[in-house]
Amino acid sequence: MPPRDDPMWRAAEAALTARMALRPNEGRAKNVILFIGDGMGVSTITAIRIFDGQSRGNPGEENALSFERFPYTALVKTYNVNAQVPDSAGTASAIMTGLKTNRGVIDMAASREVATCGDPADGVLPSLAERAAAGGRAIGVVTTARLTHATPATVYAHSPSREWEADVDLSAEARENGCTDIAAQLIAFSHGEGVNVAMGGGRANFLPREKGGRRGDGRDLVAAWRAHHADAQTVTTAGELAAIDPASTHHLLGLFADSHMAYEAKRGDDQPSLAEMTRRAIDILAQDDDGFFLMVEGGRIDHAHHAGRAALALRDGQAFADAVTAALARVNLDETLIIVTADHSHVFTIAGYPARGNPILGLARGLDEHGHPTGKPLLGADGKPYTTLGYWDGPGALAGERPDLDEKTVTALDYRQQAAVPLHSETHGGEDVAAFAVGPWAHLVGGVMEQNLLYHVMARAMALR
Ligand SMILES: [Mg+2]
Ligand SMILES: [Zn+2]
Repeated sequence: MPPRDDPMWRAAEAALTARMALRPNEGRAKNVILFIGDGMGVSTITAIRIFDGQSRGNPGEENALSFERFPYTALVKTYNVNAQVPDSAGTASAIMTGLKTNRGVIDMAASREVATCGDPADGVLPSLAERAAAGGRAIGVVTTARLTHATPATVYAHSPSREWEADVDLSAEARENGCTDIAAQLIAFSHGEGVNVAMGGGRANFLPREKGGRRGDGRDLVAAWRAHHADAQTVTTAGELAAIDPASTHHLLGLFADSHMAYEAKRGDDQPSLAEMTRRAIDILAQDDDGFFLMVEGGRIDHAHHAGRAALALRDGQAFADAVTAALARVNLDETLIIVTADHSHVFTIAGYPARGNPILGLARGLDEHGHPTGKPLLGADGKPYTTLGYWDGPGALAGERPDLDEKTVTALDYRQQAAVPLHSETHGGEDVAAFAVGPWAHLVGGVMEQNLLYHVMARAMALR
């Protein structure tokens, strides 16, 4: 007899019944929310899932993050036109324009040379946000990184270089030929009603040096934003954000840090969480009867990985999953397509045969020959313990002998997991990432997809002309 009374069996049967009841929604998507966990590869999702479960007192492996309950998933091929291992600019451009392009480029064709302005109009690829805005939808972009950073920039800007965030970053050639910086393009976005909601860090790129910013052209883009939209509001703290009245706000610029916002694990009360920004953005955008397009980026999962600090990455990943939960509580999934994906992966691993429920940030502790947990750290060939989490390359690489590790050291927030190849910054990974989808036309997200196909799914769901 099959073990039908086993809870694991019953859970599997319930999951099967739910899958058999799935029916594709072929209605028009009034709204689309695109969540991008920057650098949130599959191993990162697994580690966030376990971390999140363990933070609630469970073993963790059985946990499911908010977006892991979505009915449709795909693997996504992330390579750029000129790169086997991609960057955030090329990958987000693929998702936002429908064509893959080169590494380092914001919404411009691969036929162009990177970081050369030439003719600024040459190879400009219209973005999904531009098309959605032209069709009457409200536009929002929310990130924990600088608003001018590569991922959010693909919503509203076109630039041969992701580095041209403020005017002082432009090359002499770019200036001469009339290319403009990314911050200036956010303010100048002229499709539809312009960008309705923009929140994140990067304030210094919007202010002149005289006002504590980085700009050399004397322009105060925050003031320009207010002048551009009659009803515009600007906020710089979580308290100010909480105090706005969404019903009377149609344009909101929130700049909560000079550069990137804080890691979630180090965030003070002055900065809003990604979930809070997401809630406010939806409250404002949902007032548009034509619907909205919103990109929400968990921008610093990537930065924590580059620093080789897994604890910070997992905490930011958990906050990213919370932002998805916040969105799910606010939208009608009959008319809202939500896609959750990553732009690219990282060289981040979960390894070494730890027992079920072993603390994900801790030393790997294994099983005895009878399958019982030993409670003792597993040892490398050098006789020393190791952690479950690690990186192939990055600042955690060691010269010579490995140090003896203890639990307290490896579970500290700023601990750098060990790595093999020494690099100042840990690198992206080239394997596929996952995409999760729910809502109208979510069933088009499936199989192994080229990354630029995500654009076509969103455009089809919105019935963009
Ligand atoms: Mg990013
Ligand atoms: Zn990165």
